[in-house]
Amino acid sequence: MHEFDLIQQYFTWTPAPKEVRVSVGDDAAIVQVAPNEELIISVDTLVNGVHFPLDTPAHAIGYKALAVNLSDLAAMGARPRWFTLALTLPKVDQSWLEEFSRGLKALASQAGIFLIGGDTTRGPLSMTIQVMGTAPKQQALLRSGAQVGDLIFVSGHLGDAAAGLAVAQERLSLANEDAKYCINRLNYPTPRIDLGTWLRGRASSCMDISDGLVADLKHLLKRSQVGAKLYHQQIPLSPALQKLNLSTALSFALTGGDDYELLFTAPKSFLAEIENYQSTSPLALSCIGEITSKIAELSIDYELVNLPDGYNHFQ
Ligand code: ADP
Ligand code: MG
Repeated sequence: MHEFDLIQQYFTWTPAPKEVRVSVGDDAAIVQVAPNEELIISVDTLVNGVHFPLDTPAHAIGYKALAVNLSDLAAMGARPRWFTLALTLPKVDQSWLEEFSRGLKALASQAGIFLIGGDTTRGPLSMTIQVMGTAPKQQALLRSGAQVGDLIFVSGHLGDAAAGLAVAQERLSLANEDAKYCINRLNYPTPRIDLGTWLRGRASSCMDISDGLVADLKHLLKRSQVGAKLYHQQIPLSPALQKLNLSTALSFALTGGDDYELLFTAPKSFLAEIENYQSTSPLALSCIGEITSKIAELSIDYELVNLPDGYNHFQ
């Protein structure tokens, strides 16, 4: 199959949204950006065997490659709009491409983001997606706004994806149903887009959890020049993780990666609104602690934490 036919068959989407004046097919794409909005841009690469196990289904790879990028837009409170895809393939395998593009498209149409261009090359399997989103001027959420006394929240449950990876690598055995659930959380993370946009004007800081709660919270603390105290009993664990012994479950939740939940801070006066949000959404939001004045210091149950910093590619 020729490269142009491949692009035409799998990556030329129609109809383009009206603000996309030129899409796949020219040397570059052209989009019209509204004057009252800011453009929010992020890029992430997924490498075979590093960011997903070698035997991950193509559909899941397509979904996850976009999901991890959408999670960054969610963390900024941005509305997803357009993306580009740089795809490196060892060979042209049409059934793989069919499944990959189906997974990609399923999430793209759900999230309202449109593929406007990319690049296709031969080599070891990897993909780089650049997402572009928009938010009203000055309203995007940053890591740097946490204030002393703010409450710290996370969405969903933590540690499921890390447990899923441990199951996939046969380091952990779980009951069938729980194993399925955790592997599904690993392969199909849910970008918390609606929560992110709802947090605009409410959260004082926000980020997504990709490398583990402890590692990511430390980044937020440094950017905000504050500290944090957490309480282990408030860390949200799924029913599957609650069946493990507590220290195993907590180590997945605190230092495991790939959760793609949102971690955010907000003033105490925000609690009532959170309860309100919870009543209209199936997504759990848990208050896990409070911001302190001790710069970059993290304690759990009053003990200072010096846990391994989550996943680091160069260790
Ligand atoms: P050029 O050589 O000018 O960079 P390419 O042959 O790489 O052009 O790409 C031709 C067109 O197809 C461009 O509009 C490019 O954005 C698009 N394209 C290439 N690969 C992909 C892909 N994997 N997904 C989406 N669009 C792609
Ligand atoms: Mg090119």
